[in-house]
Amino acid sequence: MERTEIIRWLRERNPGRLAELWAAADRVRHDHVGDQIYLRGLVEVSSYCRRNCAYCGIRAGNFRVERFRLTADEVLDCAARVADFGCGTVVLQGGEDPKLTVDLVASLVRRIKTEFGLAVTLSFGERPLADFHVLRAAGADRYLLRFETSNPEVYARLHPPHIAGELPRRELLRELHAAGFEVGSGSMIGLPGTSYDDVANDLLDFRELDLDMIGVGPYIPHPETPLGSHPRPLPPNEQVPNDWLTTCTVVALTRLFCPATNIPATTALATLRPDGRELGFRCGANVWMPNFTPPRYRASYEIYPGKAAPTHAELRLHDISEILARLGRTLGRGPGPSPHYLTRSVTANTRASCSECPTSSVATPSIS
Ligand code: SAH
Repeated sequence: MERTEIIRWLRERNPGRLAELWAAADRVRHDHVGDQIYLRGLVEVSSYCRRNCAYCGIRAGNFRVERFRLTADEVLDCAARVADFGCGTVVLQGGEDPKLTVDLVASLVRRIKTEFGLAVTLSFGERPLADFHVLRAAGADRYLLRFETSNPEVYARLHPPHIAGELPRRELLRELHAAGFEVGSGSMIGLPGTSYDDVANDLLDFRELDLDMIGVGPYIPHPETPLGSHPRPLPPNEQVPNDWLTTCTVVALTRLFCPATNIPATTALATLRPDGRELGFRCGANVWMPNFTPPRYRASYEIYPGKAAPTHAELRLHDISEILARLGRTLGRGPGPSPHYLTRSVTANTRASCSECPTSSVATPSIS
C-alpha cells in the first residue's frame, strides 16, 4: 500500500468504507494469528518516574499524583493471581523508578518464572543497555517500549531526554532485538502536533523496526500535564484526531502491514468507548491485557484520566470467555508468542525477516 493510500484510509470517515478495511484486517488476523485471544495480566509496579514526558500523568513534574511502589511480595502475589486466572503472561510495567534496580527486577523475573512458569513481559521504559542483557538472562521474555511517534520534532518536544546523549527509543528497540527479546512497541494516535503523514510513518516504522508486538491507543489528555493544558495541535485539517475511529483504522492498518504480530486491544481504546475493547478485536487485535494491580493502587497509576475506572479487569475468566464467544473467538492458553517472533527467532542470532509479513505490497480493499 502506497503512503497516499494509507493517508486516504486514515482520513476516511465513512463507516461503510471503513467496515471493509476492518473486515480485511480481521481476515488477515484470522489467517496469521488465529482466533485465540491471549490474556496478559498487567501489574503496575511503580508510579514513581524520573522522566517528564509531556503527555503522561505520572511524569516527575506532576505533584498531584500519589506515588506507590509494590513490594516484591506484592508483585509475587499479583503474579500468583495472574497465573490462577489463566493468563500465560504477566506484564510488569512502571515508571522509570530508580529504586527498581536491575537486580531487583531480575530477581522478580527469576522468582515468577520458577514459581509460576509465566512468560514475563517488562515495560519499565528506558534503561541502560547492560540492564536489558541482565534482564533477558534472568528469563524475561519480552520488552515493551513504545516509540510514541515517528515525528522526531514532536518526540523531542514531548519526550525530553532525562540525561544528555540518551539513545532514542527506536535505537533501544534494536538493542532489545539484539538481546533476544520478543520486542513490542507502538505509538499514541492523535498526539497534538502529529499529522496524517506522521501516522503513515508510524505504520511504515512498525514494519521497518521488525516488531513482534504493536500497541496503538488514542492519546488521552491529562489535565495535570503540559500537553493536556497546552496542546498545540496542527490546523484541524492536518491534525490527526485522537478518536476511536482513527485508532481502529490504525489497528486495522497495523494488522495488514504486520500480519503475524501480536496486537492488543488497548485499555486506552476501551477508555474512549465501553465497547472499545471489542472494537479493537474486530479490526485486527488478538491480545487482551486485564489489570491485576492491587485495587488500592490503581487510581495512582493514572497515566491518563479514566484509566482507573472499573473495567474488564474485574471480570472473571468465565465472563471473558463469554465476550470472546460473542466475538467468535477462543481463549489462548500458554504464553502465546507472536508467530512473527517465532519465525524470526528460528534463525538464531540474526534479525531474519518474517516470511509472513510482507515487505512491500499489502492487499487491502481499494479506497479510490
Ligand atoms: N514507563 C514506561 C511505561 C509507560 S505507560 C514507558 O515509558 O514505556 C505505557 C504507555 O502509555 C506509554 O508508552 C504511552 O504510549 C501510553 N500513555 C502515556 N500517557 C498517555 C496518555 N496521556 N494517553 C494515552 N496513552 C498514554
